[in-house]
Amino acid sequence: MIKITGLAIPLDYDLKLLADIVADILHIDGSGIENIKISKLSVDASDKNNVCFKASVDAYVSGDEKAIAFKNRDKRISVEAESPYILPERKFLKKRPIVVGCGPAGLFAALLLAQEGARPILLERGLDVDSRKQSVFKFWQTGILDTRSNVQFGEGGAGAFSDGKLKIGRRDPRKMKILSELVEAGAPPEIMYLDKPHIGTDRLNETVKGIRRKIIRMGGEVHFDAVLTKILHKEGVAEGIGFIKNGKYEELYTDNVVVAIGHSARDTFENLMESGVYIEQKPFAVGVRIEHPRAMIDRIRYGSFAEHPALGAADYKMVVHLNNGRAVYTFCMCPGGSVIAATSEDNAIVINGMSEFARDGRNSNSALLVTLGSADLGSSHALAGVAFQRRLEAEAFEAGGGGYRAPVQRLEDFLNKRNSSCFGEVLPTYLPGTGFCRTDTYLPGYITDSLRQAIYEMEEWMPGFAYPDAVITGAETRSSSPVRITRGESLEAIGIKGLYPCGEGAGYAGGIISAAVDGMLCAERILE
Ligand code: FAD
Repeated sequence: MIKITGLAIPLDYDLKLLADIVADILHIDGSGIENIKISKLSVDASDKNNVCFKASVDAYVSGDEKAIAFKNRDKRISVEAESPYILPERKFLKKRPIVVGCGPAGLFAALLLAQEGARPILLERGLDVDSRKQSVFKFWQTGILDTRSNVQFGEGGAGAFSDGKLKIGRRDPRKMKILSELVEAGAPPEIMYLDKPHIGTDRLNETVKGIRRKIIRMGGEVHFDAVLTKILHKEGVAEGIGFIKNGKYEELYTDNVVVAIGHSARDTFENLMESGVYIEQKPFAVGVRIEHPRAMIDRIRYGSFAEHPALGAADYKMVVHLNNGRAVYTFCMCPGGSVIAATSEDNAIVINGMSEFARDGRNSNSALLVTLGSADLGSSHALAGVAFQRRLEAEAFEAGGGGYRAPVQRLEDFLNKRNSSCFGEVLPTYLPGTGFCRTDTYLPGYITDSLRQAIYEMEEWMPGFAYPDAVITGAETRSSSPVRITRGESLEAIGIKGLYPCGEGAGYAGGIISAAVDGMLCAERILE
């Protein structure tokens, strides 16, 4: 296959035009092209007067590919062999492996194990995605939280209520397998080639169900409302787990346990430590969410092309390194999305963002996060980061006025350290409600000062970002795990063979794709 990278193509291209461009670049007649496939497509908005797509194209041509490619002496052209993901060789496992956690890490670990005939048993503390949707919507509408089934816990994991944006980076065979499994399970096919694809929370829910069905079809078992409470091990070797299902303690015995519990399983972190599993602190970040009108962000990014139907809602990504040694960065940007209540614990405010596939909401939002170091936590205890998050979440709860109302402030008022008394053009999307409050009352001064400095710098990068009517909502505390469940080179927990800490909660992933990749890596180790 001939790969051509860095092709600039107009926004309203069609396959005929693309084939003509490819034939032109390869200096061949159009009839010599047997097939073309876009392998990567991104928006190039560097010139606001000519916003276009940048594409990589795989071309299948008749004739000698190498001769055609190399006669052109064009750096954009190369010949590549296709490299599909190859399943590890099947290994007979004496006991069924256990996977804990039904987020992307656990789902993809279980899927691979099931595909290899290992009949994994998958345990999830929350509910199936349909029941979970009901508990989450009820919480947003009424403020009644189900600590068992919420935005953090349940089938699909933390990202089930999200933008479902997929950070792919280098397209290696493992990631391509994940994308094709997602498409087979119901995700939009264009995720296979878009540079920054997203699934949207609406389609993600169906996709997750599709993967669960496939695991079961291939011999796996999935149990909801089943909480891991104990790791059983003897002389440095895993022997099984203890868990609570329907209020009753039970045990399961195995040689291989994948623990993919996400970053919010705070009780489980404690239980693991009590079981003798080594856990340590890991740096993380906290901050707020900022909301602008979607149309405004689209105009800033795409200029007069903003309404073009091929573009959709615009995103942005910025990072600022401050003189105080901290970095402030935008994170998990949700174009045309909503700010959501994402707590898993009572009387706590935890903010995050999500979008539907259409990304057509009135606002666009992003987290604005400030990095923390262990000195900020005031303790070297492994769970000091959890305690720090909890403190901020409780203070944000008080600051919002209770009832899971989130504290909000107009951006101009935040920058000038004064109270807000009414909204301007931007109305917050957060449910179940908001309360005006100075952000400085619930976030430490070193965080709010860093945010202010960074917002002024971001305004220089992206004029319009410091829009006075933008709304900031807090507190965003669960962007990544505050702990690492340390593992060795074999991916097994330090000192416990057969125990595989996995995914974001273990500190080895951040985001849907990297968590899924980590799940596959752990399954591969078990099968090796
Ligand atoms: P999780 O997805 O957190 O899954 C862990 C699972 O383990 C959970 O289902 C939990 O209920 C279960 N569990 C925990 N403890 C136990 C126990 N004791 N027993 C049994 N089960 C247990 N990432 C992106 O790439 N793109 C996005 O657009 C995006 N948006 C996000 C929006 C929101 C609102 C949130 C919260 C996160 C978002 N993320 C996004 C981050 C992404 O969801 C996570 O990085 C990813 O889900 C981590 O996967 P994981 O499998 O490691 O953990």
